[in-house]
Parts: sequence; C-alpha cells; structure tokens
Amino acid sequence: MSELDTHANQRFFAVINAGSSSLKYSLFAETHDKRLERRTDGGIEGIGSDKPFFIAFDDDKYQIDEYHWDKATSLDELLAFLIEWIEKFLAPDHLSAVGHRMLHGGTLYDEPILVTPEVLENLRKLIPLAPLHQPRILTVIDTLAARYPGLCQIVCFDTSFHKTNPYIAKLYGLPQSLTDKGLLRFGFHGLSFEYVSMELKHIDMHAAMGRTIIAHLGSGASMCAMIGGKSVASTMGFSALDGLVMGTRCGQLDPGVILYLLQHEGMNAKELETLLYQESGLLGVSGISNDVRDLMKSDAPSAKTALELFVYRVVRETGSLAAACGGLDSFVFTAGIGERSSEIRAAVCEQLGWLGLELDERANQLGELKISKDTSPVSIWILPTYEELMIARHGARLSAECEAHQP
Ligand code: ADP
Repeated sequence: MSELDTHANQRFFAVINAGSSSLKYSLFAETHDKRLERRTDGGIEGIGSDKPFFIAFDDDKYQIDEYHWDKATSLDELLAFLIEWIEKFLAPDHLSAVGHRMLHGGTLYDEPILVTPEVLENLRKLIPLAPLHQPRILTVIDTLAARYPGLCQIVCFDTSFHKTNPYIAKLYGLPQSLTDKGLLRFGFHGLSFEYVSMELKHIDMHAAMGRTIIAHLGSGASMCAMIGGKSVASTMGFSALDGLVMGTRCGQLDPGVILYLLQHEGMNAKELETLLYQESGLLGVSGISNDVRDLMKSDAPSAKTALELFVYRVVRETGSLAAACGGLDSFVFTAGIGERSSEIRAAVCEQLGWLGLELDERANQLGELKISKDTSPVSIWILPTYEELMIARHGARLSAECEAHQP
C-alpha cells in the first residue's frame, strides 16, 4: 500500500457506499481529459457479525491489504479504520469531494445534492423510509464532517432516476390524504440504472433509446422499464422491499399477509421488519443461503424451489414492465447475479421466449456483451453496473458548486 501519486491541480474523488452490513469505498482520480479512473477500492464487510473484515484492491484489482476483526466491532471503530486507511492513501486536502449513496430522497430530493446542515436535517426526517440504510449513511457523513469541516460532501439518491415515472405509475390505490403524505412508489437502484442506461448509449443507440428493461439482479434486486433512456416504471415502490424475490427480502407481498401476521401470529413491527428484510427471499424460501452460488451447488429441493421462484418473479415482472412500455426492444442483465449467472439468465430468457427474447446460448455461456441471436426481436445484453463511478461523476460535477460555496 502506498500513497497515491498526486500532482498539482489533479482532482480526486472518494465514494463511500454504506450498506446495511458493509462499508465500501472507492477513490477516483480525474484525468487530463476529465475521465475518472479508479485508483483503489474495497471496504469492510460483515458489519454486525462476529467477524467483520476489510479488503482493499489497487487499480488493477490486485488485493493490496486485508484485515480481520475477531469480535463484533462497533461501527464507529470500523469507520475510523476506513477513514485512516483512506488518509494513508491520499492526504485529505487532495480530496475534491466525497460522494455518498443515499437510498431514499423521498419527495424532497430527486437530484444529487451538496450536503449542507439543512439537507442533513431533512435527510434525518427520511430515516423512517429506509430504516436500515439511511442512519448508517448519515453517521458516515457526520463523522467525516466533524473530522474535516471544509470537506465537500454530496449525496446521490437511489430514487432519483425514477422521477420521470408518470404520476399514475407512482400512485398506490390509497386515499389521497396518504398519497399527499408521500406514500408513493419511488423505485430504487437508480444509480445502477442511470449508469447502465448511459453505457448503453455508447454501445447500441437502438437499445438505449427504445423500450428497454434493465434487470439489476444482485442481493438486492429490482427492474426498471425505460423509454428513450428515461425510467417509466420499476418493480420497487415505497420501500426497497417490493418486486422481485431478493437475497433476504421477500419482494411483492399481499398486504393481507402483514395484517395476518400482526393480528394472528402476534408479531410486532420490529419483528416484521426483520422477517421481511432479513429472513425472507432466497434465504427464507431455501432455508439454506441468500447466495445464488450456494443454492446452485445444493441438492436440497428447497434450494431449487428458491431459484425457480426467483426466476418466476423476474419473468412475471417483465410482463408487467413490458406492458408499461407498450412492448419491448431490449433487455439488459446487470449486478452480481445478472452479470455472473449464465444459468439464471438462460432460465429467464427461456421463459420470455413469447415476448421475443431469443438467447444465443454460446454468447451467454461466455458472458459476452450481446447475448441475443441476430434474429432475436428483443436484443439481450450483459452490462456490468458501476454505481460508484456514477456517484463519482456526480461528485465531480457538483464539486465546482461546492468550491463556490466555500468562504
Ligand atoms: P449487492 O451489491 O446488492 O450486495 P451484488 O450485485 O454484488 O449485490 O450481487 C451479490 C449476489 O450476486 C450474491 O449474493 C450472489 O447471489 C450473486 N452472485 C455473485 N457471483 C455469482 C456467480 N458467479 N453466480 C451466481 N450468482 C452470483
């Protein structure tokens, strides 16, 4: 591990992605032609478990360091470790901005924004909308602000990309008084969808500007329907629970199930939150693991059922999103499962043959960029997502504004 080469006027950007059990970082350097190049990334995983660990990589993705804790360590200690690691790599006065991924912008924010005391106060009010993620991100921002008072920090919202959804797509069939309080469908994974849709423009204009579905299939999973590169509908709604079956989240659920669990199973709100966010999905159905790789290896019938349900829900939601777009021209797979599991991609495409998806099996096996047959009415793609780069780009854009704010 060595300090980054810096030269006068070169700008650097850090991205911190604070998840419910991880704290990841990336450092980007701006090149002469204003591109952003990753210099190092990594982070702490397993937060809240007995064995959190840190791992870091250089610009060639070679592992450069790792560190293990043998007991549950507090978030404050882990965060201090991460900040000191970044400081060793890059002196803080070289940082032009730190960008954060924020889950929920509610009805208040639909664009990346500079952190100010007023913004922070508003973001605290949004904690109930994302109780597992939002408080952790705010702790990171507060800690950095206390350590470096002049530091430019920006937040990018996972909900922003869906601001173009028609009003009718945002509505629940609830009384207007509740809609007015912000009980709307927002949609998430917006930074991933924004990045992928921008990349698609460099690759295939027809796919980028037509009727496109992006399937972000990671441990959290959602799908977005776009027309002309703009989101018109998504599978997630008010919270990041709706839609697809995920690693540990249930996805679409009849609200009657919640009533039943409250009224007849004696569950309280906290227990429901744990059940729906952490004990359901692939983990809950299989009783084995939240990880597709483990389920693929397992002979247990419940593992097979969990994978079948995952694929079934992707297929059902594709039908719904294609209806919202009035047809389909392109389908994109991204995120951990979408990028790496040829089996899941093949199963999804096979069940979507009726909609015009014809998979080139060899290209799929090889994980190529375009995986549809030339004759396929719907083109099919694998595009790696890069939410951190999207955040760094917003940071680079907004940091000029930040400099203007400085005394
Ligand atoms: P997140 O960023 O939401 O934590 P990722 O996009 O990194 O999630 O996806 C993580 C998931 O991707 C893992 O839980 C695992 O199920 C799946 N995954 C990763 N690699 C593979 C693989 N080679 N084959 C199948 N699934 C994979």
